[in-house]
Amino acid sequence: MPYTQVTTNVYQIGGENISNSGDAGVFLIKCKDDSIVLIDCGIDSYEVLIRNIEETGLDPNQLVGLVLTHAHVDHTGSAADFKKNFPELRIYAHDWEREVIEGRPGTEKITAASWYGITYKPVKVDVAVKKIEENMVIGGTMFNFIHTPGHTPGSIAVLIQDEGKKVLFGQDIHGPFMQEFNSNIHDWISSMKLLLSKKADILCEGHFGIYQPATKVEKYIRNQIIQNYRI
Ligand SMILES: [Zn+2]
Repeated sequence: MPYTQVTTNVYQIGGENISNSGDAGVFLIKCKDDSIVLIDCGIDSYEVLIRNIEETGLDPNQLVGLVLTHAHVDHTGSAADFKKNFPELRIYAHDWEREVIEGRPGTEKITAASWYGITYKPVKVDVAVKKIEENMVIGGTMFNFIHTPGHTPGSIAVLIQDEGKKVLFGQDIHGPFMQEFNSNIHDWISSMKLLLSKKADILCEGHFGIYQPATKVEKYIRNQIIQNYRI
């Protein structure tokens, strides 16, 4: 199965069982004007992701945005290839992950590329998220960017509405929490409380799939808090 349809305008086009065993979930949002935004882009999966976009019946030439939820290579590794092939594509990330995504010398370890035995290809961040919450309209669709530090300092989640449902892209909200990632469990608890307050109907998780309805989303996040609070 090259993709999964989540809602009318949201698809999962990448992930462990879809594109590459090392990939975090890659989600596609078809915006109101038919342009396309991706949430994360896998470790080194540019070609298969393009094929999967085509499988959905959409046109990759409509790509206008790529949101990088944080700097880990299983989320960012293909970004340089996307930018090379679609120079107009705008890359969104939190300001605190920017140096790592852009490849400042000395930050290679923070990408976790060595875990995967690859070399990270840096890419320029075009739009840096700086506030706790920022709303941006992309392709006629409202994107609510939410700063969710914890797993990494500049992790972000994204919330959109589709068909009256709140769809939350909370990629690595499960952690893990490591010193080398500059993780902070106390910040993470606050981030999870903020996400719970959003009362999302659907959660697209980076490594653990799709949760719905709202009661299951809440249960998943609360269980994560219970499991991780003992760290
Ligand atoms: Zn991560």
